[in-house]
Amino acid sequence: MSETTTPEQGQSGEPAGTIAFLGLGHMGGPMAANLVKAGHTLTGFDVVPAALETARAHGIATADTAAEAVAGAAVVLTMLPSGKHLLDAYRGTAGGPGLLEAAPPGTLFLDCSTINVDEAREAAELAVAAGHRAVDAPVSGGVVGAEAGTLTFMVGALPEDFEAVRPLLEIMGKRVVHCGGHGAGQAAKICNNMILGVSMIAVSEAFVLGEKLGLTHQALFDVASAASGQCWALTTNCPVPGPVPTSPANRDYQPGFAGALMAKDLKLALNALESTGVAARLGPLASEIYDTFAAEGGAGRDFSGIITDIRDKSGH
Ligand code: NAD
Repeated sequence: MSETTTPEQGQSGEPAGTIAFLGLGHMGGPMAANLVKAGHTLTGFDVVPAALETARAHGIATADTAAEAVAGAAVVLTMLPSGKHLLDAYRGTAGGPGLLEAAPPGTLFLDCSTINVDEAREAAELAVAAGHRAVDAPVSGGVVGAEAGTLTFMVGALPEDFEAVRPLLEIMGKRVVHCGGHGAGQAAKICNNMILGVSMIAVSEAFVLGEKLGLTHQALFDVASAASGQCWALTTNCPVPGPVPTSPANRDYQPGFAGALMAKDLKLALNALESTGVAARLGPLASEIYDTFAAEGGAGRDFSGIITDIRDKSGH
């Protein structure tokens, strides 16, 4: 952490002053509540009135407009559905000024949404060009992690900006990893989730093949979990009930990590594969498989429910 502080920084390097928190949905609501509980002065805003009401019920002060929320803020934290939402909010629309214009100079823009790597880099460029600082810090850990303050943050930032936001991220999460410069947090998130999507499909296909060959779930689990097939999709989020009692398969595939979110993250990975020209075959296929899963009733189920699709299409 830096030994020196600037006027807009507190003694420990973090930006002093209030936090504007935009996007008080499933993730943003509890994340904002944890910052308030830790003693931060925070003003929340969401375009949906019901989200504002819920936030107020959890002790979060709210503003009537985004511009009002960010006026005087040292940090503008966003937790929005997509990169388009973020870029529109930064730039503003015909209806009003953008966040970059409304915020005081030198504001630290901290985006925790999951968006395309290219969009994250564009958002950072816009923020820096407007005289601000920018950090991308997507999360894993879901709503449970947001509520418990145990999220993992993958951070793309200049080193001094990383140190500035680290104390805030450590309130909302238990693991904070600096992955590199602008966009590196998003890059790490989609690379990890591409591994996860592909490996869940592989584990599920292996279990269905085992069923066809007369192998019990437990026998395959006992071998693969202690052999070279070992992975998180098998040993933590096991797609069949029984071997791992806490996995969503034991509660009829209640998420967990919803199929819609896996489909979204694989689409972001697909976009990055296309824009970089990587000769990947399994990533695009996993994206297609989870798109179909989400469209055919799996959107709200845990992504490990993909095994039931594979089984259904295998003539069981
Ligand atoms: P959500 O839809 O519940 O919340 C997003 C909120 O943003 C909504 O309340 C919406 O009204 C609000 N919003 C949209 N445009 C706005 C604007 N211009 N100003 C202010 N508010 C605006 O979504 P969520 O589940 O909280 O996810 C948020 C982000 O976190 C997404 O990018 C998602 O991919 C990512 N994420 C979600 C999970 C999860 O388990 N839900 C896990 C990891 C990452």
